[in-house]
Amino acid sequence: MTYDAVITDSHIVLPQGILDKNIIIDEGKIVGFTNDIPSCDHKINGNGLISVPGPIDTHVHYGVYSPIDEAAKTESHAAAIGGITTMMRMLRLGTSFQKSLQEQLDAAAKNHYVDYAIHASVFTQQQIDEMKFCVSKGITSFKIYMNLGGEVGHVYMDMPPYSSELVAAQVDVNNKIVEQTVKNAALLGCPVLVHAEDYESCACGIKTAKEKKKDGLSAWSESRSPEFEAKAIKTVCKYGRDYGCVIYFVHIGSARALQQIFEERNLGTKIFVETCPHYLTLSYEQQNGYLAKVMPPIRTKKDNEAVWTALSDNQIDTIGTDHVANQLKLKLGGDDVWGALAGFPGIGTVIPILLSEGVNKNKISLQQLVQFTSQNAAKIFGMYPQKGTLEKNSDADIVMIDLKKENKVSNELFGGFSDYIVYEGRVLKGWPVKTIVRGQLVAEDFQVVGKLGHGKLVPRTIV
Ligand SMILES: [Zn+2]
Repeated sequence: MTYDAVITDSHIVLPQGILDKNIIIDEGKIVGFTNDIPSCDHKINGNGLISVPGPIDTHVHYGVYSPIDEAAKTESHAAAIGGITTMMRMLRLGTSFQKSLQEQLDAAAKNHYVDYAIHASVFTQQQIDEMKFCVSKGITSFKIYMNLGGEVGHVYMDMPPYSSELVAAQVDVNNKIVEQTVKNAALLGCPVLVHAEDYESCACGIKTAKEKKKDGLSAWSESRSPEFEAKAIKTVCKYGRDYGCVIYFVHIGSARALQQIFEERNLGTKIFVETCPHYLTLSYEQQNGYLAKVMPPIRTKKDNEAVWTALSDNQIDTIGTDHVANQLKLKLGGDDVWGALAGFPGIGTVIPILLSEGVNKNKISLQQLVQFTSQNAAKIFGMYPQKGTLEKNSDADIVMIDLKKENKVSNELFGGFSDYIVYEGRVLKGWPVKTIVRGQLVAEDFQVVGKLGHGKLVPRTIV
């Protein structure tokens, strides 16, 4: 028998430890590990690199500032170069899912280099009523924005495919919407992803800061205090307990939010926690300008340390980038921090950041890297064991890492839609050098070599 491919001479990271064997791949799946080299069509020389299960970015915004038919091309390009093999889109529609979902799915279908999955954001009672319809289309996780309501309910929805108009909207995610979403998700057996910031408190904080003519990222952080995160966490965790719903907190980056989550866990809420690379590496104390404006805000050096500690203690489950594919002309449209757009790109740098600042500085092990970047996400979102592991019969999504490679970050490396990156000029040690999706080499040494359309919507199960 002749197999499709074999990867020789790499160090394979498995839950039980590092295995030095060849990886046999056939029909996009992992067939097994061997010492010899069987007959095969392609031989990929591992050159002593480290092989990890394909990383999953749990949190990606694309399709907002360019339509998904374009955004899928550019952002999955950046993903492939950054060593991400599955990207999870935060779908945000202002209308009925019955009406608008299918065109989004169709426009995405032939335009990805890497695999993808979708979380659907819920803003209205109609959308709550259509969650079951989403599940029938393979979308088995839902997102709520507790930060969007009242005076701060402005948001850009995803563009319709093949259009180029921004879709500005005003929404009101009040506690009733939150409670009903949690209740319905529990009935469907789906997790709810929560952006936990209390919108009424944030509106008040912003008003006060503007009146005092404050500016900069420190003012941004002060106006959206970690206390407002804690308040929202408390509210939604109560619903989670009442209805038996799994709550997944996205982008947790403050010591206060973490503390509240641990309290709620002790009360019995089923909680998963995601953090983002910027909460590990950026603080308003060290960051100038408005580029790093994001919701929730980047905090202090001390908060960065608290997040690292929670990560090394396995109190955090996943790393998502909260990648926003936007551009400078929109980002810096205003004159101050209040007028700047929140969010920035990050899908290309997440793996090198974790390797450089985490693994190479002994804050997390390679096994932990695998848990945080693929294994846990695959389990939480119903993609395991197809994704998130290198066991036999799993998808051959493999990223090969050079822990010693040093490279300076530049936005140009990734070929995404954005024309800037917050880590511009930072030298990172530890980079992905080969990205393999279902047995196909998709990117190698900062070049995309895969075929557009190779990326598929990942089938998911209800966990
Ligand atoms: Zn987000």
